[in-house]
Amino acid sequence: MGKNTIRDVQDAVSDETSVGRSQAELDFWMGCVGAPMMLVEKATLHVRQANAGAAKMFGLGLDGFGNKPMSELVGTEAAQMLLQIWSNAPVGRPGEPFLIRALVQEQERMLMIQVTKVAIEGEHLRLFTFMDAPPQGSVTLAGWQENVISMLNWLPFGFEIARIDDQIQFANSTFKALFGYTQDEIDSIEDWWRLAYPDPEYRQFARSQWHNSIEEARREDREMTPFDLNVMTASGIERRIQFRHRTIGNFNVNLYIDVTKERAYAEQLKQLANTDPLTGTLNRRRFFKKAEEAFAETDKPCLFGVLMLDIDHFKSVNDTYGHRAGDMVLIEFARRCENALRPGDRFARLGGEEFALLLEVSEQDTAAEIAEKLRAAIDGSPFDIDGQSLQLSVSIGATVADRATETFGSAILRADKALYEAKRSGRNRVVAVNR
Ligand code: GH3
Ligand code: MG
Ligand code: MG
Repeated sequence: MGKNTIRDVQDAVSDETSVGRSQAELDFWMGCVGAPMMLVEKATLHVRQANAGAAKMFGLGLDGFGNKPMSELVGTEAAQMLLQIWSNAPVGRPGEPFLIRALVQEQERMLMIQVTKVAIEGEHLRLFTFMDAPPQGSVTLAGWQENVISMLNWLPFGFEIARIDDQIQFANSTFKALFGYTQDEIDSIEDWWRLAYPDPEYRQFARSQWHNSIEEARREDREMTPFDLNVMTASGIERRIQFRHRTIGNFNVNLYIDVTKERAYAEQLKQLANTDPLTGTLNRRRFFKKAEEAFAETDKPCLFGVLMLDIDHFKSVNDTYGHRAGDMVLIEFARRCENALRPGDRFARLGGEEFALLLEVSEQDTAAEIAEKLRAAIDGSPFDIDGQSLQLSVSIGATVADRATETFGSAILRADKALYEAKRSGRNRVVAVNR
């Protein structure tokens, strides 16, 4: 006895699980038990063997089960559920019973099923034992329900079950925490619309968004394509909520995901990706994209003024007053230009001390006029940088392009050549070229 080691015990246990019982033993026990029993393959749920009780229940002879899939006996939905049930009981002992709605011989029945893991001659199988469902919900069932509710409460998003007529049946605690409304306050669905969307116009938009999406999802029997809305909470704070919805049977299942932070973050990233961090103007990437889009709208003819601007002798500002002063000149330069512009004009810092401008114009001369106005805005009064007064100037190349006959690329190239000409011929001037 003293020789028994942990290893011996482990061997004995694994013997039971890997070798298990003999077929003869199983035949004997299945014959003894009065309740319907079936031996099934664990992965496919094909029936290997059934006892007399099962034969009676399913209206088959004892040898009529011949490898039938479970779905043929209880219906596909019940079989699907059986596949989802994981017995956590050890080998040779039945797990918790559970309740399924099955289709037995074309009749709907509630069945209580216990699953036992067994090993028969080295093969792992499942033994299903059927019991009649208790008249009123069993203790186990109540336990299940409680657990499911705890799980739903633990979800990090609002979860709601409503009847198809929109009567709320269940809302998890996250839903309540998210919006803060009490059950009394949202007695009917109308209360929800009124509280969550105080602005009538936005409410109308939210409603149609919601109903149209649900209708579409229902027609196609799928989840609604998620969308966001601004929802007013009980505390008066507005949140950005992603809505997800699926109709299941006679119920609507709604998910409410708070994406306020994520959306704000995305907006910030977009801002960063599109603007020049120093001056706050559009950056090169965004400017080219916008300009190319404007030129691609060929449905109505339009003339554009395209300007290239480059600060004169900017390097000497850096060299004399330092890089920080240079930065402040760039900021002030952008501010002066923007002050001189009209609302639809697009102004950008392309890089370094180079800027560009795209404007809708009605005639050839307008672009050169605006360029001259900008030149004067820089040259007209000195820049006040940290108490130092700096006299600056800008050279500008300007051109006009008709989007019906050329691309933005060729127009900006022409403006750039004009800028070069402005530099070459002495700076602080506008050179306007026409095609
Ligand atoms: P030109 O009249 O021919 O345009 O002469 P310039 O000195 O303005 O032109 P150049 O291209 O020789 O010099 C541009 C300088 O701009 C060089 C570079 O150090 C400086 N620069 C580029 N980006 C920045 C920036 O973000 N901040 C500062 N302070 N300087 C910059
Ligand atoms: Mg320059
Ligand atoms: Mg330059």
